[in-house]
Amino acid sequence: MPSASQTTASSDIQSFRDVLASSKSIIILAGAGLSAGSGIQTYRGGGGLWNTQDADYLATPQGFKENPSRVWQFYHHRREICLQSQPNAAHRALASLSKLSTLSRIAPSLKETSSPPLLITQNIDSLSLRALDGLPPAVKTAAEGRLLEMHGCIFSTRCTSCQHTQCTYTSPLCSALLDTKERDIPISELPRCGGENWSGSNRYGKCGGLLRPDVVWFGEIPNHMGEIAQRLNWCDLLLVVGTSSTVYPAAGFAATVKARGGKVAVFDIENPKDRVGADFIFLGPCEETLPEVLGV
Ligand SMILES: [Zn+2]
Repeated sequence: MPSASQTTASSDIQSFRDVLASSKSIIILAGAGLSAGSGIQTYRGGGGLWNTQDADYLATPQGFKENPSRVWQFYHHRREICLQSQPNAAHRALASLSKLSTLSRIAPSLKETSSPPLLITQNIDSLSLRALDGLPPAVKTAAEGRLLEMHGCIFSTRCTSCQHTQCTYTSPLCSALLDTKERDIPISELPRCGGENWSGSNRYGKCGGLLRPDVVWFGEIPNHMGEIAQRLNWCDLLLVVGTSSTVYPAAGFAATVKARGGKVAVFDIENPKDRVGADFIFLGPCEETLPEVLGV
């Protein structure tokens, strides 16, 4: 029962480190709280013009179908915010788990000592990926392979015709988006497959179709769910970072790990009453708690 398990949750750093040191398979589940310290707000905290918008409408396939111009202007605005943001100490702490020297010190019992813990993020800001910049190439590649962006990435686009996907940090994606005032942009002027100077080709990746942000919208299935379900089966320590475990899928992940005898450690700014029972809870901004508690 949530209330009973809450009372038993510990905030003792040494006890947590003992569990970390004996864990064989660690998974990290991250959410919005991980990026809060980088200035990335949730949809509903969007600011200015977008405060009045219905986030659900801006993040559904139906909303895009009805008004791609409005959705693209919204995502352009969010892309700009993400571009201006930098990974914070929490992203860097998680990135440091990619280093063999760090892993062998704090988690020497890991089964796959050569690969970093699996990092599942619900964030689309790409900051966990950017936090890997500066690591030695081989370490970075290994860490990238262990990073699952389950809701996609705001810097990726997908063609609504040929389904070609592409990741680019270029901004704006087309000149019509330079104008930040909300207006009705014709589809032919929105981001299109093959670029703004589309040649008329119908080839894959150059077909002229309307692009959409390659992010998971309400009503769509998150990425990597099969792999995540499989990995959770043998996970014995789940770190829940900056995301409430009261809503799915996070609630389901923690419950799965608990049901199989694993431990759950939560790093978050607050502790909702109905959170799935955690063994450890470290309250506070995760850019402060994570580096301290992990000892990295
Ligand atoms: Zn296309």
